Amino acid sequence: MHTIFLLDIDCFFASVEMAIRPELRGKPLCIGGNRNDRGIVACPNYEARAYGVTTAMPLRTAAALLPSHAVFLPGNHSLYAEYSERVMNILYDFTPDVEQVSVDEAYMDVTGCLHFWRGSASCMALAIKERIQQQCGLSVSVGVASNRVCAKIAAGLKKPDGLVVVPHGEERKFLAPLPIEVVPGVGVKTLPKLHARGIFLVGDVLSRPLVQQSWIGRYLTGVANGKETQRMQYDRVEKSISRDTTFARDTLERDFILSTLYYLTERCCKTLRRRRHRAATVTIKVRFADFTTVQKQTTLPASSDREDDIFTAAQHLLQLLLPNKQFIRLVGVKVSNLSYTYSQQLELDGGKGEKIDRLYQRIDALQEKHGYTAIRWGITQLLHKSFASDAEGYHLHSPVYEL
Ligand SMILES: [Mg+2]
Repeated sequence: MHTIFLLDIDCFFASVEMAIRPELRGKPLCIGGNRNDRGIVACPNYEARAYGVTTAMPLRTAAALLPSHAVFLPGNHSLYAEYSERVMNILYDFTPDVEQVSVDEAYMDVTGCLHFWRGSASCMALAIKERIQQQCGLSVSVGVASNRVCAKIAAGLKKPDGLVVVPHGEERKFLAPLPIEVVPGVGVKTLPKLHARGIFLVGDVLSRPLVQQSWIGRYLTGVANGKETQRMQYDRVEKSISRDTTFARDTLERDFILSTLYYLTERCCKTLRRRRHRAATVTIKVRFADFTTVQKQTTLPASSDREDDIFTAAQHLLQLLLPNKQFIRLVGVKVSNLSYTYSQQLELDGGKGEKIDRLYQRIDALQEKHGYTAIRWGITQLLHKSFASDAEGYHLHSPVYEL
């Protein structure tokens, strides 16, 4: 029997905004655009939902439903990506078997590490929830079950800040009284067809057998029986890790751009090391003041998880992309073509590489213990002067001084 967690961050985009701007708490908040924009609501908080606002509703419809003190924000995707990565990194501290399925959702197979928690899945889930709340200021809902679908359904039942544990062997009993639309994949198209066959609850699937030949019939029968229908992909390596940032003001200053690029590269490398991955490809992205965006990539001589290799490549690419004096709006770095790092690397250079690996590991450990700015590289000194920081790093989105 496996024990699977599905962890889902509650109202992710809105929660991140409320975490960094406490004055927003308690007010209806919609992320996606301004109240008169033509777009849709990407994420309403619970206060806005109380007025009937839903995800994907037109912003103007939401504005009509909400009182005048409601707040509308366009959203900041690099900030959300940063928070997503922070949460995922916490999950990797608990188990290496993490499968991130979206920016705010991940499955964890905790079967092999429950003994650290005296076999108690709820103790472990509560510890994860507490860490995420303390370190990121976000609440998450967790579903625990012996398979993914059941864990996902459980996580959706008590939001926000929920924890629902389905004991082993009770999956069928737990699912039977729930409405069939809680099953992932049952959408507006399938639901009327199921209703027409007299299937309203998950348990109805078993008393009114569907045509077993159809994929949906086999899938729903499996779900209703509490059986695993999809396997977790433990060995799936994420395709890439990237970090970018939009400058508070368009800039020409080469040193500042390089300093920022180093910091972003460092963030990518820390994530690589934490997840025991190495990257073979480095890509640089630059957006100019006129919004034209250019990218350039290179393949490293050998896969690496280290700043010295990856920044050298990134810096070289940046030089190729900045031939003329155009103001830069955004800079970003992506590492891809990832593979697992195995503990015993064959060292061809007499252990020098191994020494540098250990140096980076020591720095990671020191920064983890004493905060990011406890030990700094000279190249990021410009950022240190310009931005506030916390244990995790610099707040690139809130400059201390005018840049
Ligand atoms: Mg969510």
